[in-house]
Amino acid sequence: MNPFKADLHCHSTYSDGTFTPKQIIDLALEIDLKGLSITDHDTIAAYEEAIPYAKSRGIALITGAEFSAVQNETNIHILAYGFPFDSELIKEFSKIHAKRRLDRNRTILNKLNEKGMIITEDDLVISEKSGTIGRPHIAYALMKKGYVESIQQAFRLHIGEGKPCYVAGLKFGVEETIQLIHEAGGLAVIAHPHLISDPKALKTILEFDFDGIEAYYGRFSPQKNQRWIEIGNQKQWILTGGSDFHGEIKPNLPLGSSWVNEETFHRLEHRL
Ligand code: AMP
Ligand code: ZN
Ligand code: FE
Ligand code: FE
Repeated sequence: MNPFKADLHCHSTYSDGTFTPKQIIDLALEIDLKGLSITDHDTIAAYEEAIPYAKSRGIALITGAEFSAVQNETNIHILAYGFPFDSELIKEFSKIHAKRRLDRNRTILNKLNEKGMIITEDDLVISEKSGTIGRPHIAYALMKKGYVESIQQAFRLHIGEGKPCYVAGLKFGVEETIQLIHEAGGLAVIAHPHLISDPKALKTILEFDFDGIEAYYGRFSPQKNQRWIEIGNQKQWILTGGSDFHGEIKPNLPLGSSWVNEETFHRLEHRL
């Protein structure tokens, strides 16, 4: 019997992943994961399909989402776990995020169009699912239309932070996002702390009321995780882990490349 492993960070076609929730669950079973959380950007739309399918296939599933927040000018991703699937607070929050993204994406498209790169909202649909649309979709459309050679180049030249067609749009603070997750009965976890670009923002948010930190990430070596493990232990936070799987668009982040054991999985599942 293989040990219990649960991947707590992956994206489906309801945000910027290329696998449907069912395909993620099938793949998880193939690689012998026993637990999973699907953490789409700013939405829990995957769960309607994922919950019955996970049940029928016998894999443990806990609710999750990855919310976008901002500290000063720095983008911070916050993982939420273990809230009730039918939480009105989370549903409402997701709706506001969708509206925020719609407005922001339109402004980005206008800027691109002014520079001669003609992308319409219809070009941003990469799957038949209706879910979160963000800059990765815009980058993909720019590549498909031949305006850039790669997704990376789209960010580097046009839509990355500080680039000519970047638009921040409406922002949510880190503290208000943590508070909302707590009010919804969930746990708030700092996602991929190594990606937080500004050390000052990192220092500030490490003082906030988080419940956990994503100490194990993707294919990172034990040395690379060590800093976050130490910080998490010092704060008595839950140490979480996940692959940040996105399917084919990010082949260097395979499902199951980071995971948590059964004890950690159940701590996230039962808060109340
Ligand atoms: P959004 O939430 O719409 O602002 O898009 C943010 C997402 O874009 C992140 O979650 C990353 O997956 C992706 N992203 C951000 N910066 C880059 C970059 N330089 N190259 C490739 N992808 C990026
Ligand atoms: Zn993503
Ligand atoms: Fe993220
Ligand atoms: Fe992610």
